[in-house]
Amino acid sequence: MEALIVYAHPEPKSFNAAMKERAVEVLISEGWAVTVSDLYAMGFKAQADGDDFSRRSDPDYLKYAAEQTHAATTADGFAPDIRAELEKLIRADLLILQFPVWWFGFPAILKGWVDRVFAAGVLYGGGVGMFSRGRFKGRRAFLSFTTGGTAATYGPTGLYGSADVVFWPIQNGILNFLGYSVLPYFQAEAPSKTDDAGRAEILTAWESRLLSLDTLEPLDFHDLEDFDQQAGWTFKPGVVGRTVAQSSGAKASE
Ligand code: FAD
Repeated sequence: MEALIVYAHPEPKSFNAAMKERAVEVLISEGWAVTVSDLYAMGFKAQADGDDFSRRSDPDYLKYAAEQTHAATTADGFAPDIRAELEKLIRADLLILQFPVWWFGFPAILKGWVDRVFAAGVLYGGGVGMFSRGRFKGRRAFLSFTTGGTAATYGPTGLYGSADVVFWPIQNGILNFLGYSVLPYFQAEAPSKTDDAGRAEILTAWESRLLSLDTLEPLDFHDLEDFDQQAGWTFKPGVVGRTVAQSSGAKASE
């Protein structure tokens, strides 16, 4: 079983680095083959642009997803760094994204990794399915992040709002979109505002989480079968929305 940890933090002595290192140790001890993409150390290019393709289908006007689809059917069509990441990703049974929450989402370098590596024509589109028919159906992925805010701040009555809502775009729009079974996220709460003992506790909880992956229920998303393509991919009659983003949709279709 292969695991890929995509790790995005600019400081090698950060708490995120400690979490990444603990994950490598624990997963290897559990028999996983582990690969780490350390995006800052790699100097990973965050911006998606025309240099990402060896030969463009349209050199005059860049349509990024169309060029991805073209590159997917061209020998060595993608830039070498994208090809290398795609190979790692396609091998991985488990994907962990390890990052500090910046502006309620990914650091730009990790968003750039998603933009460039989750390529149309390879991982979705052009005959490759999406969501419950996605390319990575049967594989697992989850988010492991540190925050400045506490878990309560990210609760339903908290200032930042529920983490399930904050991370819906990533958990649904990226991981579930590609077909992954999305395991619950792990939040390392405010490591810079706690003491050494508190941080040690977080790392112990992280270790326990990694040791219990097989017992975790994936998040519940609607199956593609719940939607009517002819009706603009909206709920079929009778489907009751049950996610943080789609509960009100049920009322609209009734
Ligand atoms: P660090 O500051 O690297 O580490 C914290 C402490 O842990 C340090 O004292 C370090 O020495 C110590 N440490 C390192 N290794 C170990 C170890 N092995 N054992 C024990 N201690 C160790 N927060 C939000 O909640 N929402 C936001 O939208 C948000 N936006 C942000 C935007 C930006 C641009 C920035 C810079 C920050 C933002 N933050 C936000 C805060 C950010 O999420 C936190 O600062 C970050 O998650 C803390 O994690 P870190 O790895 O950077 O911690």
